[in-house]
Amino acid sequence: MASLVLTDSSQLTSDSTTFSESSNMVDAAVLEKLESGYAKLAASDSKSLLKKYLTKEIFDNLKTKKTSFGSTLLDVIQSVGEDFEIRKQQNSYVENIREHEVNESTKKQELESWDRIGLENHDSGVGIYAPDAEAYTLFSDLFDPIIEDYHGGFKKTDKHPPKEWGDVDTLGNLDPNGEFIISTRVRCGRSLEGYPFNPCLTEAQYKEMEDKVSKTLSGLEGELKGKFHPLTGMDKTTQQQLIDDHFLFKEGDRFLQAANACRYWPSGRGIYHNDNKTFLVWCNEEDHLRIISMQPGGDLGQVYRRLVTAVNDIEKRIPFSHHDRLGFLTFCPSNLGTTVRASVHIKVPKLAANRSKLEEVAGKFNLQVRGTRGEHTEAEGGVYDISNKRRMGLTEYDAVKEMNDGIAELIKIESSL
Ligand code: ADP
Ligand code: MG
Repeated sequence: MASLVLTDSSQLTSDSTTFSESSNMVDAAVLEKLESGYAKLAASDSKSLLKKYLTKEIFDNLKTKKTSFGSTLLDVIQSVGEDFEIRKQQNSYVENIREHEVNESTKKQELESWDRIGLENHDSGVGIYAPDAEAYTLFSDLFDPIIEDYHGGFKKTDKHPPKEWGDVDTLGNLDPNGEFIISTRVRCGRSLEGYPFNPCLTEAQYKEMEDKVSKTLSGLEGELKGKFHPLTGMDKTTQQQLIDDHFLFKEGDRFLQAANACRYWPSGRGIYHNDNKTFLVWCNEEDHLRIISMQPGGDLGQVYRRLVTAVNDIEKRIPFSHHDRLGFLTFCPSNLGTTVRASVHIKVPKLAANRSKLEEVAGKFNLQVRGTRGEHTEAEGGVYDISNKRRMGLTEYDAVKEMNDGIAELIKIESSL
């Protein structure tokens, strides 16, 4: 970055500026990157929410701000990034993926998606991340409209409701005959109090957090009892098998890489799971923690009850970052509030004969369609990941209920076709 400094940062401060004030200034190299990145984004045909809401006025207002962790607007928007940055990430990742033995279909899909981003350059859906909790406040002029758009009208004057898991016994099996649903999963994200998010974490902090998390989870009992497996030292075959079976996060996500969320990888990253892998916790992927309950079939009730028991237990053991207005804090604004994503892996071949039609119908029920290997992947063998889209401005129970009701409707429609 130093080689990109075009102006001396002192030119940006007035004569009377003290040292401590000037250290709060965004340095010239960052400003330069922001300006050129903004020009590119403005000229692009990106469909991201970032492009939609980062007006010139908001950009000019925010470009010189810095949080106490030292995060700037560049840290917020760099995932969409400059052509140059994305190319750099792309090249190293493609090299990486060619070198390592990975599942053939993953390889093909990843390489194709990299090619796409090389051409289109701005294909992110949301486009911004919070480098630390403070960023949500300092850069609120940008976060608020994006949050409102993504979470179905959660306004900047709105307050996210208190945590409420509701009556867990009211949810049941969405597909008792096993005709449509292959598996069901509910996850939530949590951030450890006192630590910033990925782009600001040091390697020592990553390790310290991993240690805290694995020690804490080792206290879980009964069905939740399991073992922590650090990514450091995990052999590639085991890792790939866990990814292929949908238990473990993938490696080399280009959006996370461009957002500076993969530094020191695999330090501090890992997965905890019970023996039959129905309860899992990801450590330091996108969020500090992702707490997951999943199992084959459509028994959402059982999956949900397991998750609620686990989260209640873990919350007694570790303090998490919570914001009065925004709910639980996460790295990506799409996950704020409840942080809950309840999904099914489902086959609806008639509805899915036309993907955009499927998306349209799903959208009516506030559902989001993803590919078989999750976000930014394609469907394999006709299996789609369909989940609740909103996570904010409604309770945990209502977020899951939204998926429950929407999937019941999709199944009805599929059966009638
Ligand atoms: P998240 O929002 O939890 O990060 P991603 O879209 O990144 O979800 O996907 C993470 C992993 O979870 C992927 O391997 C994906 O296939 C898996 N997954 C999501 N929903 C289900 C489900 N209902 N059944 C099985 N695996 C699932
Ligand atoms: Mg993910």
